[in-house]
Amino acid sequence: LIPMLLSITVVFGAILLVNQTIAARLQEAARRDALTDALTRRALDEAAEIEVARSNRHRTPLSLLMLDIDHFKLVNDQYGHPIGDAVLRRFATATQACLRREDLFGRVGGEEFCALLPNTPAAGAALLAERIRKAVADLVVEVDDHRVPLMVSIGVATLGEHGKAWQDLVRQADAALYAAKRAGRNRVIMADAIPLSAAAAD
Ligand code: GH3
Ligand code: MG
Ligand code: MG
Repeated sequence: LIPMLLSITVVFGAILLVNQTIAARLQEAARRDALTDALTRRALDEAAEIEVARSNRHRTPLSLLMLDIDHFKLVNDQYGHPIGDAVLRRFATATQACLRREDLFGRVGGEEFCALLPNTPAAGAALLAERIRKAVADLVVEVDDHRVPLMVSIGVATLGEHGKAWQDLVRQADAALYAAKRAGRNRVIMADAIPLSAAAAD
């Protein structure tokens, strides 16, 4: 009887382990956008709250890039939605390749993405944003011998000495992104460079 009980226990144990592994994988998959594998908005919000708290507590800089593909509607209109999807995937892969392991990359809208950069001051974030902008502009996406031009506008904000909430950081980066669009697209704008009145008007 004992060997039988023992083997039943082992089998049950193994089933439990497999179940747990599957549950963990499903949980991780739910945090990611199916098309681009970037974090979902909700997963990014949750992780960002933790990063903001850490940054405030340890007084380490935290920067946010808000990225929006320029005139993406034209890509869909000209080449169709499936090509648009493929372009989004290429964009996400190229952007992620510029980031560090500890950076958080999320899709917050159709063709709008966020990169949250722990331990990164404004100057470092500006360099990285410019590197991403260039990497995207240099991407060669070809459809039927046509090269699909791809460009991105990026707004950058940094959690300052005084500490801000996650939503403040998002608002600032968003305002900078909007300024980049207005200034002609395919560029990086820093939140600090926005005059207060313009930021408030946004
Ligand atoms: P702007 O430079 O001002 O950002 O112009 P835009 O055309 O990129 O911006 P707009 O907001 O007018 O259009 C965004 C487009 O993104 C429209 C929508 O069809 C497309 N889009 C959103 N989500 C997806 C998606 O999952 N797949 C595809 N293929 N297209 C998407
Ligand atoms: Mg866009
Ligand atoms: Mg957009």
